[in-house]
Order: sequence, then C-alpha cells, then structure tokens
Amino acid sequence: MTDRYAVVGNPVAHSLSPQIHAAFARQTGADLEYTRLLAPLNGFADCVKTFRAKGGRGVNVTLPFKLDAWQLATRRSERAEQAQAVNTLHFDGAQIAGDNTDGAGLIRDIEMNRGFAIAGKRVLLLGAGGAARGVLLPLIERQPAALIIANRTFDKAHELAAHFSRWGNCTAQQYTELGAAAFDLVINATSASVAGVLPPLHAGVFAPGSLAYDMMYGEKANLFLNFARDLGAAQSTDGLGMLVEQAAESFFVWRGLRPQTAPVIALLREQA
Ligand code: NDP
Repeated sequence: MTDRYAVVGNPVAHSLSPQIHAAFARQTGADLEYTRLLAPLNGFADCVKTFRAKGGRGVNVTLPFKLDAWQLATRRSERAEQAQAVNTLHFDGAQIAGDNTDGAGLIRDIEMNRGFAIAGKRVLLLGAGGAARGVLLPLIERQPAALIIANRTFDKAHELAAHFSRWGNCTAQQYTELGAAAFDLVINATSASVAGVLPPLHAGVFAPGSLAYDMMYGEKANLFLNFARDLGAAQSTDGLGMLVEQAAESFFVWRGLRPQTAPVIALLREQA
C-alpha cells in the first residue's frame, strides 16, 4: 500500500519538499506519495487530523505552523522540545511524535557537504525567529569556541541566549556591540533579504577562511551572500543544502532509511 506524507503550510505552493521526497522515494524504492496541504491559518490541527484519519503516515510542517505542530505532538524529541518548534510529525500508533530536523539539516550541510567543522570555531547567528531557535541546540552541541546571537529585536536574541546557554557557550549581543570581532562562520537566519535589508555588519566580521551561510535559498539569498563576499567571506552558500538535509532527516524519522542527498541537491540546483 502506498504510504502518504505531506507538507503543511500557508502558503505552501512554493515548497520544494514534494520534489525532494519524490527523489528520495525513487532512490530508495519506497512506495510513497508526498503532497502539499494548504491549511487555513486557524485550521492546522484539523487539517493534520483529517490527513491522518485518511491514512497519512506523517507530515512536514512549514511556516507559520511549527509552534502549532509542537503543541499538537503528543511526544517530542529533545531537539524539538527545546526549539519549541516541530517541522516533522510522525503518526506512530496512537501517538503523534514531533521532531525538528532543521538543526540537523544545517549541521550536515555545513559539516558534511561544505567540509567545514564547527567545533572550536567562532559562530555568529543572525536572527532570533523560529529558524534560529530550531538550530541553536544542534549548533551548541558541535562545541563552537563562541556562539553569538544578534537580532534586530535584541530582547528576542537575549531570550534565546538565556534559554540555550544552559547547554553550552551562547550569548546575545547587539549588532553595535560586535565591535571589531571576527567570526569563522556567520549564519543568516533572518528573513531580512525578502525586504531587501542587509544586517549592519562591520568590515572585518569575516575571519580569514570564514563561511557565510544564508538559510534562504535561490535568488533571494544573493543579497546577503554578495555582501558577505564583499566583506571578505572566503566561502558562501545558500540554504538549499539545509533544505534537502532536513528533508532527509525527516525521511529517516519516518522510514528508518537515510537517502543520499548530494544527487538531490545537484538536481535542484540544475532545475533552479
Ligand atoms: P521568523 O519570521 O520566525 O523570523 C524572522 C527573523 O528575521 C527574525 O529574527 C526577524 O527579526 C528577522 N527579520 C525579519 N525582517 C527583518 C528585517 N527587515 N531586518 C532585520 N531583521 C529582520 O522566520 P524563520 O526564523 O522561520 O525563518 C528565517 C529564514 O530562514 C527564512 O528566510 C526562511 O526561509 C529560512 N529557513 C530556511 C530553512 C531551510 O531549510 N533552508 C529552514 C527554515 C527557515 P525580529 O525578531 O527583529 O523581527
């Protein structure tokens, strides 16, 4: 019998997840169907329950429902619990298991695909929204030498640092307090590029050999990545690899198999 999965969001038409999971299914010989579900803004839980009642095995969750999914889960992984955001629901008997695979996706893309080890490095995380929250625990677990969160609304960065510093070195700073500090890895987890806005980073923020990473992918990431190269970033990448890696991690959560991601990333880059 065909196993059914879906990505739930609003909007959701832009989501590449159906293409990614179709590629994973071809690769692993899995008999599955993966569709998009547009949930009303106040109707996430009903949408998921209906899909489950019709035989759905699990869903991915995108904006703006990751907190709703966290609330709907009857059991949560530690990384989802601490992120207070769920992007993967697995219907496991009577349970709805919630997980967050965004952080694992980011780490795998940086470390495995880019060959950039985070341990001992100085990391600057820009943004304090859902995406930043989702990646903080996995980042701290890689044991960077420093992990600084900067955000337009400083209070949110401060709140995240206060929560996550119990797991390791993590502090919040105003952009103006960054001074002349240099970082080995700068991750843009803001959606500022959508508004054509660049973060107020100083010249010298990129240490020699540094990597600039924008979680956005495609054209929209170029504003930040070009800016980062102008400021001296040695390497730069958008978040397409993270997108595919978090999907692979969800596939593993659902099916216990880890698909190969490199051919899928290459396929999506070709089609872009
Ligand atoms: P949220 O809406 O939760 O957070 C947005 C963040 O961006 C906040 O920190 C906000 O700051 C900041 N921001 C927004 N507009 C501006 C601006 N004009 N100037 C400065 N800062 C701004 O979004 P998410 O955290 O969920 O997503 C952030 C990005 O990450 C998105 O682009 C999303 O597409 C991407 N993403 C990519 C994934 C992938 O797999 N590649 C996975 C998940 C997310 P403030 O607090 O001040 O409002």
